[in-house]
Amino acid sequence: MALVDNLNSIKQQIPDKVTLVAISKTHPAEKVQELYDFGHKDFGENKVQELISKAEILPKDILWHFVGHLQSNKVKFIAPFIHLIHSVDSMKLLKEINKAAAQNNRVVNCLLQIFIADEITKYGLSVEELKSILSGVQIKEFQNIRICGLMGMATNTDDNEQIRSEFRGLKELFDQIKRQYFPEEETFNTLSMGMSGDYELAIEEGSTMIRVGSLIFGEREYK
Ligand SMILES: *Cc1c(COP(=O)(O)O)cnc(C)c1O
Repeated sequence: MALVDNLNSIKQQIPDKVTLVAISKTHPAEKVQELYDFGHKDFGENKVQELISKAEILPKDILWHFVGHLQSNKVKFIAPFIHLIHSVDSMKLLKEINKAAAQNNRVVNCLLQIFIADEITKYGLSVEELKSILSGVQIKEFQNIRICGLMGMATNTDDNEQIRSEFRGLKELFDQIKRQYFPEEETFNTLSMGMSGDYELAIEEGSTMIRVGSLIFGEREYK
């Protein structure tokens, strides 16, 4: 099947208000261009180097999402153009993003990544760390960051009930954080959860943004 058919078959199954981010990591820029030519704008990458080499040669109005673990010393490379960073998982990183965004006269959209999986390998903040960041005085000084919501990755398991309960917990946390810290901010509106294997469950549990790679592009092409 052509890439655009894969994309459209997912789009037809999801509500209009859910944003589909096509995760193009390991796939060549031509494949991104192919979907772009059919009108798709949201693409995501998880490595800084790969993102900047694609962004350089692809149309400038692509909305680039960063979904991987981000090192503070690499923020400056994506700050000039990044649309949304899904994977903010420390105060140090927030500080760095704010600084680099200011140098570029931009406000950079960020999601705070929350650890919800039953695995030790995934990055993310605990609920305590999240609340401590949001209650602190420092975050109020970050004029060049817009916190738009939360992101989480469920455990890689066949147990749908476990996945569902992890997503449900993240949605409850999202609602609570919105009430407590962002009651007036309409821009705190994004809950990024769901990938190729679990996006349907994620949407049932309240996701507003799904990150789908292999179901669109096929298996990843690691070199
Ligand atoms: C690779 C990746 C995805 C997409 O994974 P698929 O299972 O191929 O859909 C989503 N989110 C993150 C953070 C990723 O690294």
